[in-house]
Amino acid sequence: MNEKYEAVIGLEVHAQLLTESKAFCSCSTKFGNVPNSNVCPVCLGHPGVLPVLNKKVVEFITLMGLATNCTINERSVFARKNYFYPDLPKGYQISQYELPVCEHGFVTVTSKDRDKKKVGITRIHMEEDAGKSIHDQAFETLVDVNRCGVPLIEIVSEPDIRSAEEAVQYLTKLRQIVQYLEICDGNMEEGSLRCDANISVRKKGQKEFGTKTEIKNMNSFRNLEKAINFEIERQIEIIEDGGKIIQQTLLWNPDKNEAVPMRSKEEAHDYRYFPEPDLLPVIITESWKKEIAAKLPELPEVRRERFVRDFNLPVYDAEILTLNKGIADYYEDIVKVTKDFKSASNWVMGDVLKIINEEKIDIKDFPIKAENLGELINLINEGTISGKIAKDIFPIMLKEQKSPLEIVKEKNLVQISSSSEIENVIVKILEDHSSEVNTYFEGKEKVFGFFVGQVMKATNGKANPKIVNDILKAKLEKLRN
Ligand SMILES: [Zn+2]
Repeated sequence: MNEKYEAVIGLEVHAQLLTESKAFCSCSTKFGNVPNSNVCPVCLGHPGVLPVLNKKVVEFITLMGLATNCTINERSVFARKNYFYPDLPKGYQISQYELPVCEHGFVTVTSKDRDKKKVGITRIHMEEDAGKSIHDQAFETLVDVNRCGVPLIEIVSEPDIRSAEEAVQYLTKLRQIVQYLEICDGNMEEGSLRCDANISVRKKGQKEFGTKTEIKNMNSFRNLEKAINFEIERQIEIIEDGGKIIQQTLLWNPDKNEAVPMRSKEEAHDYRYFPEPDLLPVIITESWKKEIAAKLPELPEVRRERFVRDFNLPVYDAEILTLNKGIADYYEDIVKVTKDFKSASNWVMGDVLKIINEEKIDIKDFPIKAENLGELINLINEGTISGKIAKDIFPIMLKEQKSPLEIVKEKNLVQISSSSEIENVIVKILEDHSSEVNTYFEGKEKVFGFFVGQVMKATNGKANPKIVNDILKAKLEKLRN
């Protein structure tokens, strides 16, 4: 970015809530059902029907507000946001405008260089989703209204974000929180977590904000980062050329890596917001708030600190392990079986996460049970198998639902720790490779690795590496004299 400028970014994040039924009717929220099957007169906006608020929605938004340091307003009201669109049969969306449930919160984000920064949350409010228009048909657009009335929360940040990187960190944090609270699955690709960015630039030191634009349709963290960087550069270029930024909404095109204007940005008054006459104000009493607060799980930051403290892990490890609640749970299940906390962390951060990312699966579907991985670590530490053998057993564990000990016995992989047995192998190898032995004595110490390799080959990798090293050194020294 041009050094003379700084970016001012605010994010509006929509999180689809994991309730069984919709916000104002009892229709299912299930994703992927036959189009237009999860509907009823209420979510279709037939005349004369009345919405009834799903209590779970209020519980979920209150949890989110509490987890993000918000004030929970005792009284909040719904409003109608009026606009016309084919996938919005009612002609309005039930949302909240003047009195949202949550206000004045913040989350703390940690940058790559470990600086901590607070990003303010202006408000979090409840609203219902619209349907879906499927435009990619040859001659027509199809409308699926299954999503109409599915509950959302919208989390509006203060314009505290200064770079694409910070925006990614902030969104990562929000996703982590909704997943920990189990109120949203956080899946950006499927649209259960959606994000729009308001972006402007200004000269460094300038107090007033520049004219902002809004970018929509960034369905991954990568696209969020790319889109923000694109827009910052675009705005700076216009200003540098003496032009003016037009307030407008842009649509990110991930295939072309560019944002194209969608429409001139609406002002709030274009939506003709007014209080929803069919719904009573939402009252969250102090006692209900307490009841909900009691359900708050241990939040990611607290858990991370506990991992560092209780398992003596580096902050880096703790951060990776607690990024996802399922992974953190998995790790804690392993360390119920083994006391080697760091090895457990290495296995999860390495082999386990590699497979999860490659196969794009949830940790819940990871084939190796945590207790079996814990047992594998114990087998190494007890000297039953070598670390190398463990790496061979791991893929077998992925395929077969067996304990590592079963596999070790079945495949006869128990480590050879008998000194005499290893000594016999070494003596034979040194006899067979007298020229390499001479090379070693000439100072080419690398040849040592060759001997180790030969021993491992002769024992099918089962020789205890430490004993091999010790005996090999001793034997060579003896030969030298
Ligand atoms: Zn319905």
